[in-house]
Amino acid sequence: MSLNVLVIGAGMGGLSAALAFQQQGHRVTVMERVEDIRPVGAAISLWSNGVKVMHQLGLGATIERLSGDMQRMRYLRHDGELLSDFSLMPLYDDVQQRACPIARAALQKILFDAVGAEHIELGQHCVDYASDADGVTAFFSNGRQVTADLLIVADGTHSKLRNKIIGRPVERQYVGYVNWNVRVPATTKLAPLDSWDQYVGESKRVSLMPMGTGGNADAEQEFYCFFDVPLPADMPNEPARYREELREHFSGWSGAVHTLIEHFDPARMARVEIHDIEPLETLTDTRVALLGDAAHGMAPDLGQGGCQAMEDAWVLAQLVQKSLEDAPTPDDALRQALDNYNSARVKRVGEIVARARTRAEMIHGHTPALTQNWYDELSHEDGQGVREGIKKTILGGPLG
Ligand code: FAD
Repeated sequence: MSLNVLVIGAGMGGLSAALAFQQQGHRVTVMERVEDIRPVGAAISLWSNGVKVMHQLGLGATIERLSGDMQRMRYLRHDGELLSDFSLMPLYDDVQQRACPIARAALQKILFDAVGAEHIELGQHCVDYASDADGVTAFFSNGRQVTADLLIVADGTHSKLRNKIIGRPVERQYVGYVNWNVRVPATTKLAPLDSWDQYVGESKRVSLMPMGTGGNADAEQEFYCFFDVPLPADMPNEPARYREELREHFSGWSGAVHTLIEHFDPARMARVEIHDIEPLETLTDTRVALLGDAAHGMAPDLGQGGCQAMEDAWVLAQLVQKSLEDAPTPDDALRQALDNYNSARVKRVGEIVARARTRAEMIHGHTPALTQNWYDELSHEDGQGVREGIKKTILGGPLG
């Protein structure tokens, strides 16, 4: 039994869902608001749970080839003193999959090409939907109406359709810090080429992570770098001042941090005020599933937002397929699958949203004594605690 599936949003969540449903033989159309998709942000760390989904969708080998070789983790005090240095290999062995930090543009292209341009309509801004026993119709700002069996809403953290699905207003909440992120050529003057280095102090953080070649296997290796600073919301965002601002915020920090500040290209940098949304009590409406950041916008401090979007996509497609095999009619199957999607995902993503918020607050000085405790712990961290935390998140996913 093949369904008409309409996906709103061609980010990594919507495209993963499209691909997962295509693989089950359904007819999928993706409607994307913008005319030209340009992912905001430099790179993304796909942890093993996300990579496992990509393998199931047939994209794992490509992603592994184009991503960074992140074998270990180092924490350094802001003045450059090494706090801890440990291998990630025992984690990868335990979960049977390495992490894949990768350029956002590369990941987007891999997903887009896999779904197929002929199944993705750009410049289509969905403004509303209506569903009943016979189908679900999405309405677009250009007057179009498209009817399907199932609507997947993956319209990102600013989702306009979320309130209707949840049945009440859902506001984004400022997490309390600003993140500047950028790609730079990888060099040992900045960090070891196989290490995720993080400088911490003064409730701020600087991170350098090997992210591969940015999409072209023959290109030079790059680092995905970011700077976190606790700041009030709604400060001016002036690219011409990024370097000057970062020099001020990180005055007195280690030489490598200043080498990075003097060398990045501000034109390639993104500045994001970090927001999340409170965990939601449901992710479905009649014939409608909410997925990705629209469903669980979270602080990026666990590196799980995109990975959870991929998990959502995989789980939803599997549940629909199973219900179609078991239920007496397609309508019963959809109802049952959406109920099961709530059961499978509401608790999992709610817990991760909450843990990401707690970690963001610890890293960024929400309670200064807790942040200081964390710095103290890092100086005798042998890696076991960090690896166990990441392992728990990964193994809690649908693919173990
Ligand atoms: P989006 O990527 O936002 O895509 C939504 C799409 O919907 C967009 O293309 C948009 O144009 C379109 N759209 C919006 N409204 C409409 C409409 N009405 N009609 C049609 N189309 C519409 N995650 C990780 O897993 N690992 C990381 O290391 C990581 N690091 C991060 C670092 C930072 C600084 C930030 C901010 C996030 C990070 N994340 C990370 C999270 C990750 O970026 C997101 O979870 C992921 O991009 C969400 O994908 P999505 O498809 O749900 O939403």
